[in-house]
Amino acid sequence: MIGFDLDGTLFDTMTAMRQIFLSKFNYDIGDTNCYDISVPDIKPKYIVYAIHEAIIKYNDQILPYPDTKIALKKIVKITKQPIIIITARNRELTELTTHQLCKKYILPISPYKIYWASSSQKKEMIMNLGLDYFVEDRLRTANDCAPFLNRVFLLTRPWNWGRPTMPNVNRTRYLTDVADWLKINHG
Ligand SMILES: [Mg+2]
Repeated sequence: MIGFDLDGTLFDTMTAMRQIFLSKFNYDIGDTNCYDISVPDIKPKYIVYAIHEAIIKYNDQILPYPDTKIALKKIVKITKQPIIIITARNRELTELTTHQLCKKYILPISPYKIYWASSSQKKEMIMNLGLDYFVEDRLRTANDCAPFLNRVFLLTRPWNWGRPTMPNVNRTRYLTDVADWLKINHG
């Protein structure tokens, strides 16, 4: 069974983040090379609030990456299993997130299930669900989860370049590459 992270993996959330950081802190995160955004003189808790706010305020601008829908369709066809999404979003965003997924036509293309787990809880969630594969954009999470999975796919983003990965982490440019890999190697 394969699982997917949401923000930065299926959805391009960075554009919305960039806008909120510009409007709130007059700070351009640009092509940040770090997943955990920091702003000089701003406490981390306000960063977390800003990210939460960005998802609500700029909801309409948070779009799936161009190949998300086609790739998910292909993957479902290959695995014949439901889509599992594990997100670190705040649980208050349950309704908005479900709506967002349906409205942007990612779902329903198959039965799906959304699980809520922070980055540090993801590994446990992956083990409990018995996943074989996971698709992620955060390098640290990809490496942490790798020992418990057959394969982790780390989608290349500006914030995960140039650092080492565990041997079973495949750096992948597009989500459709995951479908191609599964077609050859799954089952
Ligand atoms: Mg992510």
